[in-house]
Amino acid sequence: MGSKSGFACSHTGGQACRKPLEVPIGVCANMSIPDFFEEGSLVGVLTAEPLDRVLDYKAPEGGCWMGAYVQVPLGPRQVIGVVWGAGRGDWDPAKIRSIVKVLDVAPMRSEMKAFLEKVGAYTLTPMSAMLRLATRAPGLSNPPSMRKLYQLGPGEPDRMTDARTRVLAVLEEYGGLSFTLKELSEMAGTSSSVIKGLVKQDAVLEVDTPRDAPYLPLDPSLPSKELTEAQSSAACQICNGISEGRYGTTLLKGVTGSGKTEVYLEAVAECLRNGRQALVLLPEIALTSEFLTRVKQRFGADPAEWHSGVTMTERRRCWRMVGQGAAQLVVGARSALYLPYRDLGLIVVDEEHDTSYKQEDGALYNARDMAVLRASLNDAQVVLASATPSLESWVNAENGKYSRIDLTDRFGPAVMPDMRAIDMRVEDLPGSRWVSPSLVGAVRTRLEKGEQSLLFLNRRGYAPVTICRACGEQVGCDHCDARMVEHRFQKRLMCHQCGETKPMPVACPSCKVEGKMAAVGPGVERLAEEATALFPEANIAVLSSDLFGSARALKAKIAEIASGETDIIIGTQLVAKGHNFPRLTLVGVIDADLGLQGSDLRAAERTFQLMRQVAGRAGRAETAGTALMQTFQPEHPVIRAILSGDEEGFWQAEAREREITGMPPFGRLAGIVISSPDAAAAFDLGMHLSRSDGPIRATGGTVYGPAPAPIARVRGRHRVRLLVKAPKGAPIQAAVSSWLEGLKLPNNLRISVDIDPQSFY
Ligand code: ADP
Ligand code: ZN
Repeated sequence: MGSKSGFACSHTGGQACRKPLEVPIGVCANMSIPDFFEEGSLVGVLTAEPLDRVLDYKAPEGGCWMGAYVQVPLGPRQVIGVVWGAGRGDWDPAKIRSIVKVLDVAPMRSEMKAFLEKVGAYTLTPMSAMLRLATRAPGLSNPPSMRKLYQLGPGEPDRMTDARTRVLAVLEEYGGLSFTLKELSEMAGTSSSVIKGLVKQDAVLEVDTPRDAPYLPLDPSLPSKELTEAQSSAACQICNGISEGRYGTTLLKGVTGSGKTEVYLEAVAECLRNGRQALVLLPEIALTSEFLTRVKQRFGADPAEWHSGVTMTERRRCWRMVGQGAAQLVVGARSALYLPYRDLGLIVVDEEHDTSYKQEDGALYNARDMAVLRASLNDAQVVLASATPSLESWVNAENGKYSRIDLTDRFGPAVMPDMRAIDMRVEDLPGSRWVSPSLVGAVRTRLEKGEQSLLFLNRRGYAPVTICRACGEQVGCDHCDARMVEHRFQKRLMCHQCGETKPMPVACPSCKVEGKMAAVGPGVERLAEEATALFPEANIAVLSSDLFGSARALKAKIAEIASGETDIIIGTQLVAKGHNFPRLTLVGVIDADLGLQGSDLRAAERTFQLMRQVAGRAGRAETAGTALMQTFQPEHPVIRAILSGDEEGFWQAEAREREITGMPPFGRLAGIVISSPDAAAAFDLGMHLSRSDGPIRATGGTVYGPAPAPIARVRGRHRVRLLVKAPKGAPIQAAVSSWLEGLKLPNNLRISVDIDPQSFY
């Protein structure tokens, strides 16, 4: 993996041109590059601006170090950059400007630099874009800022009021801790003027404190849960790798509820005991307060958090403290991989099969694979945890690249649910209803016993298609080749490609006849309507990402469901991810065939994972669970594998299939998408590329296409795609680079390259 060819070129501003530049890289390997640059000497500075080269600057007064974050003038602006090596000296010396200042943050470490270069080379992402990923913290160039915090003071107030008593009680309860004015007034239920009054009398102290404060230390020696024999032997095996300080990747496969989290928290503890930092990656949606509470229980303090819900101030603190080693554990979403760790010893990728680990915008990387790369550069351990691993990881474990540990039993009395198919060919169900009589009966039984049921349908909105019964017109998006989905809750139609919405039309946009628009097919909102009619006495909750204004609102709903207030949960794949609903004993899958219809390479794998995950929601506590799957094809091999629970059989069959067809992980793919407002221009370039496929053929590879992408128009841009398929060992990045090199693109035409594509739209 990775190439030493040098810097990716981005002089088109897009991703089309990747001319390698002759700039030396690899600090450790190249002894001719000094670590320190004297004042006035030439240094190369990489910026996050889309330029085609590392720029020459003069080292500032006092000199600068390799890897230093610096502020440099660029045209009329000042931007942030990193000292990347010696200057090239091929620029008019009279025009070379000086670095303005060296920022007061830890310099980029050589392994981080190597990591960015390797990810850039692997994913064919320009280095400027890689640096942007690594500096996603606002205000890095600002001087350290202060804020006022409040703590218990030595003084006695002249008189006590109820409000004053509450403030002092809160401060006493929390011992030596200090709080912001807002925190303290909220906790004490008083106005801030009460606190200010106490400050005047020295009963409360107001202290100027740096915003970027270190995180409270975590204590790995606090007692853990008492692990079962299988759990502790799993933990032991991973801890050995950590204490030996070597690289290794372990696939931790265990059914939902088997204690994978308990096991990897012990690996985190071992990492902390060794004085190194740990990172736990979770899909954004699984970053719940429930998880953070478990971390706090185990280690006595909160970890650093890094995800979309974290404030800008907190991000900046996290970035800086991680760099100083003053954050021992980061819990975050995929971009936490690019934080400037001082000494990273362990990366956990929980729910490693989750598709949200693949970034589908800008730098197209898979955080799971890049975590393995990062760890190998840091002598760190990786734990990939999942109940249903990706085929890639399963194969890597089979061939010995990864170790594998299986946790086969659920913790405590909980057992895997009993899984059965409901054959929809024999169920008696009218056309616009989706819950079969058998499933209705099963839900009724749960309602009578006061247990929860989950009805699962992986489709947001009310109905996937809105059709005019007069002329047959299906309402589509004006900007995309996609149908508009009715969201009755919001009283609008929405395009799931570009997010465009419009009001539900009364008259058909095509034939203008009124009152004939009809919903076709089910979405979760429609299913909720049916459930309300079937079970009027039940308390029903719908869990779908678009129904919640914020991640916090969603998390609150999940907590409410977990507490048992809901009788019936209706949800999309949002519910498949790791939530613990102890009273849930029945899962009904409305359309188990849904995922099998596409032509996607991973359709079978995804359906298998999703169905197993969803079924795993049932029966997490003492009560045994049941999963019922409505299907029109109960004898389909994937459905049979899901029901029989023969996981190894399923993976083996799937792996054999891919091996025969040379598909990943037994072969390599790269997706090329050309997009333009002008369909013909995009197609012409596609034809040109397919005719000039020499560099790809030279590696034994083949170019398929051009063909219209499955969604042929998004946001008004026509999309044409080519697929490169090459043998396993082929140098696909180098081949694609030289294939696309020197293309002259008109302004409005864009090319994006996706190495190891996950989806095919
Ligand atoms: P997974 O990550 O595999 O889904 P968890 O680690 O979340 O499993 O464990 C499921 C539940 O069982 C959690 O509530 C966890 O605290 C509990 N649990 C697991 N192992 C133990 C143990 N050894 N002792 C006590 N509780 C445990
Ligand atoms: Zn659209």
